[in-house]
Amino acid sequence: MKTLEQIRAKLHEYPIEVAFPDIAAWKTGNTGVDYMHTFDSGVAGPHAMILALTHGNEVSGAIAVDQLLRSELRPAKGRLTLGFGNVDAYHRFDSGNPDASRFIDEDMNRVWSTARLDSADDSRELRRARALRPIVDSVDFLLDLHSMHEEAPPLMLSGPLAKGIRFATDIGVPEHVIVDGGHANGKRLRDYGAFGDPASPKNALLIETGQHFSVRSKDVALDAASRFLSKTGVVTAADLKDFMLHAAPALQQVLQVTQAVIAGTMDFEFAQDFRGLEMIERAGAVIARDGDKQIVTPYDDCVIVMPSLRHLGPGVTVMRLARALENWQ
Ligand SMILES: [Zn+2]
Repeated sequence: MKTLEQIRAKLHEYPIEVAFPDIAAWKTGNTGVDYMHTFDSGVAGPHAMILALTHGNEVSGAIAVDQLLRSELRPAKGRLTLGFGNVDAYHRFDSGNPDASRFIDEDMNRVWSTARLDSADDSRELRRARALRPIVDSVDFLLDLHSMHEEAPPLMLSGPLAKGIRFATDIGVPEHVIVDGGHANGKRLRDYGAFGDPASPKNALLIETGQHFSVRSKDVALDAASRFLSKTGVVTAADLKDFMLHAAPALQQVLQVTQAVIAGTMDFEFAQDFRGLEMIERAGAVIARDGDKQIVTPYDDCVIVMPSLRHLGPGVTVMRLARALENWQ
């Protein structure tokens, strides 16, 4: 049987194009929770939050939040919170093993169910999530900044609800919006509590900015964070214009995830060197092999979303399959 190290050794290696910011200066915030900073305008309005480093090696978000903090951006109404999630994992980053510091004990983006947070379970990620929870509970609009294992165009993950799709298309970037229900093995922050309640006006989005270490990803993170804050009305567009990319956003495409492909074995291979957003024209085309089992496209014009074997293991989602959603408005 292949080990994860053997599998990773065969995968494409991406250069680390960006410097990892020293975020130690942001440790002591003003919320009573380390690495969390909140600014109240004193004017009525929503509470908007941008969180980086839910995954410890996803540096583009850390660069963006570091830059927003250094710029001393302040809200015009409501409240603005900027922070860093899995800081302990971030501090363990090793360029010789860049995939390892995604988390320490468990994936911090799979612990956000009330049952799990209230349980007697313990892990470093659960401790951090429990510390963040009172802040998150007061947030009206959340943007969770992530990046991807493979180089692919950025994706906004709206969650499964119409309100999430609407929020993603209101913000207008990036070009591709992915509508999905999350993971069977644990709840994401994006889906936590009122964010996942269709009746609540609270809303959350997760952006995948591009490949973790690419220079482009940090620009995408800052651009999306700015457009998000501007759309919530918490920060004025004038205060954000320096952080936005100048190119006009492309017309967005909304893709509905229909299924996750979950590995059953360590003997899993893609049929092509997929990176993301490839469209397979025909139903029944072989796209992967898992042990003795062939995995085929379930329908025509099937789009491959976030394929990666970097965290392969039985039960791990290694790609999602999606199709264009025409009538989302
Ligand atoms: Zn992530």
